[in-house]
Amino acid sequence: MATKRRTPGDATPFLPERFSLPKLREASRDCRGCDLYLAATQTVFGEGSSRARVVFVGEQPGDSEDLQGRPFVGPAGRVFDDALAAAGVERTETYVTNAVKHFSFEPRGKARLHKRPRVGEVRACSPWLRAELAVVKPDVLVLLGAVAAQSVWGPAFRVTKERGVVKSGELAAAIIATHHPSAVLRAPDSETRKQVFDELVADLRAVKKLLGP
Ligand code: SF4
Repeated sequence: MATKRRTPGDATPFLPERFSLPKLREASRDCRGCDLYLAATQTVFGEGSSRARVVFVGEQPGDSEDLQGRPFVGPAGRVFDDALAAAGVERTETYVTNAVKHFSFEPRGKARLHKRPRVGEVRACSPWLRAELAVVKPDVLVLLGAVAAQSVWGPAFRVTKERGVVKSGELAAAIIATHHPSAVLRAPDSETRKQVFDELVADLRAVKKLLGP
């Protein structure tokens, strides 16, 4: 008789005893904290310096990220790079990661369509994000989009209403939520696309100001 697969409640049992970014990245490859690992290609862990003063958190890896094993390297990553450049923030001085480390998608023919991760999957994956933040200890934490923002501030948080507001919390002295770069790509027309991009850049300029010269 086939053994029924049983996933644990979250990623905690897969965390290494001691935290460092290389150890966490290595351990995350074997995470079975939720079911998303079953269909995804690989774990996409965060990338950047452990000394970064700013950490950006997105939602989850997309199709390109899943295949390449690196965060923010697909179309949304290119928007992110453009927005960082417009705001004068160097990506090499940042740490970039996602609230969920495996690609959540729905197969549609040969394509894999992005599927918003469930609340339980975001919760299951949060020990990795908390461990990354415990190592990097950023001055500024930037939450890109609703999933990342709600993973920190809870399900009632609305990016549309509270975008750009600087708060403080246990994870960083300054925490700010803004659009996910993919919101620029999803905008229905060029005018809205420009507006969303400009708002993202304005929030990143505020981040640059918080970091100081
Ligand atoms: S999404 Fe997160 S919790 Fe789920 S298997 Fe992947 S790394 Fe583990």
